[in-house]
Amino acid sequence: MSAPQTLTRTTCPYCGVGCGLLAGADGSIKGDPDHPANYGRLCSKGAALGQTIDLAGRLLAPQINGQEASWDETLGLMAETFSTAIRDHGPDSVAFYISGQLLTEDYYVANKLMKGFIGSANIDTNSRLCMASSVAGHKRAFGSDTVPGTYADLEEADLIVLVGSNLAWCHPVLHQRIAAAKTANPNMKVVNIDPRKTATTDLADHHLRIVPDGDTALFNGLLAHLADTGQLDDDYLKKHVTGRRPAITQARLGDPLESGLTEAELAQFYQLWAGTEKVVTVYSQGVNQSKCGTDKVNAILNCHLATGRIGKPGCGPFSVTGQPNAMGGREVGGLSNMLANHLDIENPDHRASVRGFWQSPTICTQPGLKAVDLFQACADGKIKALWVMSTNPAVSLPDADGVAAAIAKVPFVAVSDIMARTDTGDLADVLLPATGWGEKDGTVTNSERRISRQRAFLPPPGASRPDWKIICDLAARMGWAESFNFSSPAEVFAEYVALSGATQDFHRDLDLSIFADMDYAKLLPTQWPQNGTRFFADGGFFHGNGKARMLPVTAPAPIQRDAFTLNTGRNRDQWHTMSRSGKAPRLGAHLAEPYVEIHPVDATSLGLSAGDLLALRNRYGQAVLRALITDRSAPGQLFAPMHWTRQQSTSGCINTLTAPVVDPVSGQPASKCSPVAAQKF
Ligand code: SF4
Repeated sequence: MSAPQTLTRTTCPYCGVGCGLLAGADGSIKGDPDHPANYGRLCSKGAALGQTIDLAGRLLAPQINGQEASWDETLGLMAETFSTAIRDHGPDSVAFYISGQLLTEDYYVANKLMKGFIGSANIDTNSRLCMASSVAGHKRAFGSDTVPGTYADLEEADLIVLVGSNLAWCHPVLHQRIAAAKTANPNMKVVNIDPRKTATTDLADHHLRIVPDGDTALFNGLLAHLADTGQLDDDYLKKHVTGRRPAITQARLGDPLESGLTEAELAQFYQLWAGTEKVVTVYSQGVNQSKCGTDKVNAILNCHLATGRIGKPGCGPFSVTGQPNAMGGREVGGLSNMLANHLDIENPDHRASVRGFWQSPTICTQPGLKAVDLFQACADGKIKALWVMSTNPAVSLPDADGVAAAIAKVPFVAVSDIMARTDTGDLADVLLPATGWGEKDGTVTNSERRISRQRAFLPPPGASRPDWKIICDLAARMGWAESFNFSSPAEVFAEYVALSGATQDFHRDLDLSIFADMDYAKLLPTQWPQNGTRFFADGGFFHGNGKARMLPVTAPAPIQRDAFTLNTGRNRDQWHTMSRSGKAPRLGAHLAEPYVEIHPVDATSLGLSAGDLLALRNRYGQAVLRALITDRSAPGQLFAPMHWTRQQSTSGCINTLTAPVVDPVSGQPASKCSPVAAQKF
């Protein structure tokens, strides 16, 4: 009889729900019954993780120009190249592009190196594509990037409004929790606001098929309705909120019919919202990935602030993050316009405080390049050395062919990854083998601010090293050994917690003191600032006056369509560019090839039959995809999944077509609404 398998308590590496797992070296995976994110539940991706831990295709040794090399040689070359570029062209001539797949400890040291030692803020992350608009909206409204919601709020609500969120496929365990809560509470209503019918729509009592970017018109209309029908919380507004008058005046100027909904649909939704005390508005990429994403976020927050539906059980806006550690990255200043601990680069006191703690030779003095601008700077020849960690921007960024060409122009490119071949890695001068999920230790923070451990249960393969270690090794070679002398992720985490303590004079929301006495090895999933503490329970916002701000926001002009608009998103069973999920046969069986959804009316006008190929093109690129004729999207709107790379499908990399248009406040790309022409192939 074989010995019982030892299971390690860890966290799923996929989405921002952050489910706890019990994982074994033989590939056994179970939901952790004690983890508060999932209480034992799993989705198809999490359950198939055991099929992804083999070493096929892994990058197992450093490479220089395609030849295996030692760590010594490789790091020596990197240190020399980065140092020379900094000396000759200044600190802003180098850049890091990192990832919400990284653990908090990786993120922390990468930011410390770039912002405190190199002295630039040219470090951005693929989280820019995920929730930058939400960060910007929170900061405008609350004075801090505080996500006030918890998963328990979803179960306590009587109305859940899901905006631009296919929760059933993108955050499946949260969807399971809402479905169970709805069964237990027959009074609970779910409204799904989305231009597209999705698997999530099946759970909804009402599907409001807005036009793309119709969210602001809809929520401005709601605010005007609340004001005009005397349903604002005047007492709450007086005590805790500024900006009421201009926000409402602006909202009244808009036309809610520009949302694309009928008067009857609007009236029903507004009455339901106004008549339900416990409302949670969950939003995700359909809101954030937009040319006006930050305004959409504030249009939603305005309604919650105006009615005091925030800071109470079962109430509030709730931005759910796409990636496993988008929140952890935010906490340690992962974006190019943030400092660690939710502090601001623009604030000299914040900079001095962080620099003093780090005892660093310098500190960046202005925000760095955001993702799309960062690769434009590569194209313009301004970046002399680039390090991409744990992400595949040549596939995942808009205008993916333009990004690939931009990377190819950079004189020196290093890529850290677990896989030997990626579209971005193929453009690199240096490849650095990183340990992956199951092989490395660290922490992640999920969408409800709960920090959990990822734990190793497999040995590091080949010569791979954890990302935090690679970063520290490079920093040491660049002359900063003492400041990066960490021997474990536990030491990195301890420094991050200590930074939180040292900068407490500037604290807003991020207080990690609860972690100071915790044993890292045994760390249980813990929500900050303290388990059970509710943000904004009595106001307590983070603007200087302690109040929140309502923002006047304007709905964008309706799209003038002369072709199709292309929406992109996730499939149920794949993750990002499939470097892990693509390994699992069980997941590949769901939707095996790239496709494009097209409405039957459009299919008829293009002469398409089921299974025909559809050619899409615009000024950025082209793709040829199998047509899936369905009424999930409205006529004129196409949808295609984002997962396939050029290596996996010669004509299915959909971001070759997405336009590099960004929200002007957050810099987040508008990946859901690109103009394309379509014809039968
Ligand atoms: Fe992993 Fe997200 Fe699925 Fe949970 S819901 S198992 S975190 S992919």
